[in-house]
Amino acid sequence: MSADRLAEKVAHVKAAKQNRFHTCHWPGCEDQVPPAMWGCKGHWFAIPKRLRDRIWATYRRGQEITMTPSDEYLKAADDVQHWIREYLIARYSKVPLSKLDSVRLPRIGL
Ligand SMILES: [Zn+2]
Repeated sequence: MSADRLAEKVAHVKAAKQNRFHTCHWPGCEDQVPPAMWGCKGHWFAIPKRLRDRIWATYRRGQEITMTPSDEYLKAADDVQHWIREYLIARYSKVPLSKLDSVRLPRIGL
């Protein structure tokens, strides 16, 4: 990560403004967050660090302006949505997350 170092990405995202309608990407959350941000603080920190790290690693500054996220970013974002679905199933069905492999949901687009 040399051309777009993490510290520069973090500074960019933290300085980002709410300049258009853009909601948190957690399903059902209607919180408005700057387009540079994945989601609201509570939901961002609800997802595992390994997935947050992938979002950071694949995020390119300004992709929210040019609307051209990389394939790697889209894959990471899709994997976050998949994790959330599994998390919600586990939470509301009382099935341990570690046991969900046998009931994986089919992947759907964002
Ligand atoms: Zn949220």
